[in-house]
Amino acid sequence: MTTVHPALSYELYPPRSHASCDSLLKTITELEQTNPDYVSVTYSGDAQRRQKTLALLDHLVHETSLNPLAHLICVGHSVADLERSVRLILGLGVRGFLALRGDIPPENTRPLELPFARYLVELIRRVEREDFAHLAAGKVSIGVAAYPHKHPESSSLLQDIEILLSKQRAGADFAITQVFFETERYSGLVDAARLAGVQMPIIPGIMPVTSLTRLTKLCELAGLEVPRELAHRLETASDSRELHRIGVEHALNQCRKVLDAGAPGLHFYTFNEHEAVLDVLEELDVPRYSNRFKLPLSDLQYL
Ligand code: FAD
Repeated sequence: MTTVHPALSYELYPPRSHASCDSLLKTITELEQTNPDYVSVTYSGDAQRRQKTLALLDHLVHETSLNPLAHLICVGHSVADLERSVRLILGLGVRGFLALRGDIPPENTRPLELPFARYLVELIRRVEREDFAHLAAGKVSIGVAAYPHKHPESSSLLQDIEILLSKQRAGADFAITQVFFETERYSGLVDAARLAGVQMPIIPGIMPVTSLTRLTKLCELAGLEVPRELAHRLETASDSRELHRIGVEHALNQCRKVLDAGAPGLHFYTFNEHEAVLDVLEELDVPRYSNRFKLPLSDLQYL
């Protein structure tokens, strides 16, 4: 019987400077060695940063062996813009999207043309149908966001589950969760989603956090309570090595627990850094990722 390994994926974002571009290229090379199933690339409301997203997607498709998953957001776009972007990204050779609404900036007063992520899923499916011949009748894979802690604008976790179900009905294939720090949050989301009829895989988003500043900023942005124990450990760490160890240890525990709870994969928020993620993978009790899916040499001798 073939053993199915959990899926492995990473989130990257486009670099903000030449220096961060160099370190991202190194990170990409390091992460590539682990044969991930896909690498997701974030998308920003800022027009200049969007170009960088496209450039990074282009790099991944043409210069690496990685399969990119393009994030796309409704905020800041007309329907026509989004349609163009989907076609452009498909034209680069990308075959996966993470369809998101995006955060609405406080100064935004005009209603969004596509007010919710579900409509973006529908739009991508429509473009897919129209471009079927170009895709050789192949299917585009569409992911959506899920929230173990409830989305800050939702009235309840139940509302979030209904929205997740509506995204599945619109054609989403899988979901990736926002960061969370207690496994019970992930299991609670999955259990409630299954009861409501959500069948698609819900992949936990894992973040090795190796700095208190990053942890507090992240929680502020995501509207989460700062996890006290982790914050205390990071605050009292004696040096950068200990910070690294604490972040890796915490993420490793989370990975073990979510895999025990039946998670179909692990999606790492990398902050464009590879060291902590690779250290987590090194310790995980699953076959080494670097040896996955390699054909024995004899299978290749006639090619
Ligand atoms: P939606 O699913 O549209 O939900 C947004 C809110 O509207 C929720 O409160 C929901 O309950 C409510 N809602 C939805 N449909 C309805 C309806 N029919 N009626 C009433 N209420 C409704 N942001 C970026 O800008 N760029 C990125 O690259 C990015 N990547 C992300 C990756 C992941 C894995 C995650 C989890 C989030 C990411 N985000 C990103 C953040 C995301 O854009 C925000 O969390 C945003 O506020 C919500 O996006 P959504 O796709 O979940 O929206």
